Amino acid sequence: MYFSSKLPNVGTTIFTTMSKMAQDYDAINLSQGFPNFPIDPLLQEIVQKKTLENVHQYVPMAGLPALLDKVGELIFNQYQRQIDATTELLITAGATQAIFTVVQAIVQKGEEVIILDPSYDCYESPIILVGAKPIRIPLNEDFLPDWKKIRDAVSSKTRLIITNNPHNPSGKVWHKEDFKELEKLVNDFPNLMVLSDEVYEFIHFENKHLSVNCSEILKNRSIVVSSFGKTFHITGWKVGYVVAPELFMREIKKVHQFLVFCVNSLAQASLAEYMNYVDVSKLGKFYQNKRDDFRLKMKNSRFELLPCEGSYFQLAKYATISNENDVEFAKRLVIENGVATIPLSVFNANGDDRKILRFCFAKDDKTIQQATEKLCKI
Ligand code: PMP
Ligand code: GLN
Repeated sequence: MYFSSKLPNVGTTIFTTMSKMAQDYDAINLSQGFPNFPIDPLLQEIVQKKTLENVHQYVPMAGLPALLDKVGELIFNQYQRQIDATTELLITAGATQAIFTVVQAIVQKGEEVIILDPSYDCYESPIILVGAKPIRIPLNEDFLPDWKKIRDAVSSKTRLIITNNPHNPSGKVWHKEDFKELEKLVNDFPNLMVLSDEVYEFIHFENKHLSVNCSEILKNRSIVVSSFGKTFHITGWKVGYVVAPELFMREIKKVHQFLVFCVNSLAQASLAEYMNYVDVSKLGKFYQNKRDDFRLKMKNSRFELLPCEGSYFQLAKYATISNENDVEFAKRLVIENGVATIPLSVFNANGDDRKILRFCFAKDDKTIQQATEKLCKI
């Protein structure tokens, strides 16, 4: 039988690999990005209560109306953007499904999609699966967009540019000027759309996160993706949402209805109620304290910490410790030092290795204490 892979270059993700290594070697897991502390007891209580209610059957395809309303309110309160929750919003099974669905719905065979490296791992495969071409453009040294390089790569064939802000893996947040450049770009290229991955939209520190939702120009040219996983410490629930202008949302819903139809009803009902009580503006401070704690405890280590402005990731250079490549170094760190991290080069199409590791600080105090003690001994 003749059979060839549609994704010949895809293997097991680095997140799965490093989390498995952490387990196998009984190491502290600062690799895959997920919180290891309990969820809000109020959310727990709401879920328990909801299981006794009649919320266990299919809900409307685009989302439970009560949750759509709550997300609409959240977007208005946060960004003063008024969306029509019935035509411009979709609840998805996390941001990964959202991104896959958007690419299937929007990008045609032969078109091009710009990805900015280092980039999160779920962007490229959906592009390849539709027969389009991913164009990987490196961010600059500070992990911000290099607008000259981006402009040089955009043409009439470019359907989408995928942006991610606050940024995984660097923890960088975009500046006002970056938004101005993006506005100019979409003005110059009338077919270009933005897929704005804002899953860490509420996790930002000294510099406020600016969203495409705030720009009159960009909001009509962007599809915004977010995830409750990050916002409410429930990465395993896999619930997120997409905001898009109606023209595009119609197409996105066509794909969504045959990919999942509707998203987990118990989760949606619980989140709709929980959002009456929870204050997302506290999330930045919550993670800022964790970042500060991690940085303080790493002060006497030989790692050089890079700036961290958002997300729950801290980057650190290890060039003064070893000249091994980052994948080898990260593996050795698990085996010999008992801490799992993520090597940065895997986020780059060209494998560029700047001797940087990513540490996830979305962890309880004890984990941060134990991990940093080990890291300071290296
Ligand atoms: N985008 C980025 C930048 C991420 O870090 C993640 C993973 N946490 C996702 C998308 C996927 O989110 P989800 O777990 O909701 O699918
Ligand atoms: N977003 C998580 C990270 O960056 C990984 C989630 C996953 O394993 N798919 O660590």
